[in-house]
Amino acid sequence: MKAMVLESLTDVRANQTPLRLLSLPKPTLNNGEVLLRVTSCGVCHTELDEIEGRTPPPHLPVVLGHQVVGIVEESSSDFSRPVTTEVVTTGQRIGVAWIASACGRCDYCKSGRENLCAEFKATGRDINGGYAEYMKVRADFVHPIPDSLSDSEAAPLLCAGAVGYRGLKLCNLQDGQSLGLMGFGGSNHLVLKTAKHKFPNSPIFVFTRNAQEREFALSLGATWAGAIDQSPPEELEAVIDTTPVWGPVIEALRYLSPGGRVVINTIRKEESDKEVLLQLDYPSQLWMEKEIKSVANVTRQDVREFLQLAAEANIRPEFQEYELEGANQALVEMKQGRIRGAKVLRIN
Ligand SMILES: [Zn+2]
Ligand SMILES: [Zn+2]
Repeated sequence: MKAMVLESLTDVRANQTPLRLLSLPKPTLNNGEVLLRVTSCGVCHTELDEIEGRTPPPHLPVVLGHQVVGIVEESSSDFSRPVTTEVVTTGQRIGVAWIASACGRCDYCKSGRENLCAEFKATGRDINGGYAEYMKVRADFVHPIPDSLSDSEAAPLLCAGAVGYRGLKLCNLQDGQSLGLMGFGGSNHLVLKTAKHKFPNSPIFVFTRNAQEREFALSLGATWAGAIDQSPPEELEAVIDTTPVWGPVIEALRYLSPGGRVVINTIRKEESDKEVLLQLDYPSQLWMEKEIKSVANVTRQDVREFLQLAAEANIRPEFQEYELEGANQALVEMKQGRIRGAKVLRIN
C-alpha cells in the first residue's frame, strides 16, 4: 500500500518534504482490530507538532493522520477475547479519531475522562494513522459516520471538530454569553458553527492576524473580527485559543470578563515568543477569578456526540482536498498559515 511516512523529525520551515511516499505492507490484524481502507484523512496542526518534535512519535518511522474515514475491509477472526460489544461489520463506513486506545481500568477511564489516561495512545503518533491506503485500529475505538456527511466532510470533524467541541464544553458558556476565538483555522471555524447552533444568542468575536481569515469569519456569521491585539467591543466570558504561540493567550486574558476562562486548544505551544509571559499583569489579566485551562485529547464520547450534533445541525467543514502525495504541500501551507477551513487528503 502507498503511505506518506515520517522517517525523521525535521523543521518544516527548512524542509518542505518532511514525509516520504513509500510502499508498505498492508497491516496485519491482531485480536479485536479492524482493517480500514482509507478514503479521506484530515490534516491537523498536531502533525506539525509531531514532525517538529514538540510531541514526537515514540517510534519512527510512523504514518501520521488522526482524522480518518474509510470502509471496514476485514475484522480479526479471533473473538475469543473480544474487546468490544459493538458490532463493526465489513463494508461499514467508519471514522478514527485522535484517541486510538486508553487502558479502560484507571480512575480516569472509569469516570468518563479516558482522554487523561496515562496509557492514552494517539492515532498517527503512537500507532500508524491514515496518511495511507490502509490502516488498522481497535474495533472499540471507531465511530460510525452519519450518512448525511461525505467522507471528506466527516474527516475534519473527527479532530478539528471533536476537540473543538470539547474545548467549547470546557468554556462553560451559557446562551447569550460572549465567546472569543483566537485563531481561525480548521478547528475554530467549526467551533464557530457549533457555537452558533448551541448558543444562538451568544455574540462571537474572532481574532486572527490574517485579513482573509477575518473576512471568512464574518462570512460564517461572526459578530466581529479583528487582529489579535485589537480590543473587542465588549468583555468576553470565554476565549478558545488555537494559535501555536503565547502572545494571543496574554491578549485573551486582557479581554476576559471577571470569572472568565481562556481555554487553550493546542497540544503544544512553540517557544518562539515565550518571553511575552513575563508581561502578564496579574491585577488586570488573572485576578478576579480569571482562569486558563487546556484541552487534552478527546474521549470517544466527545467524538460520537459531535458527529451526532454535526449531522443534526448540518455542521459541515469548509475544506480543501489534496491527493495523498500532496500531504507535504498541505503541511507546508499550514505551517505558513495559509489556511481556509480544513485540509483533507483524498485517498481512495
Ligand atoms: Zn488533530
Ligand atoms: Zn485509563
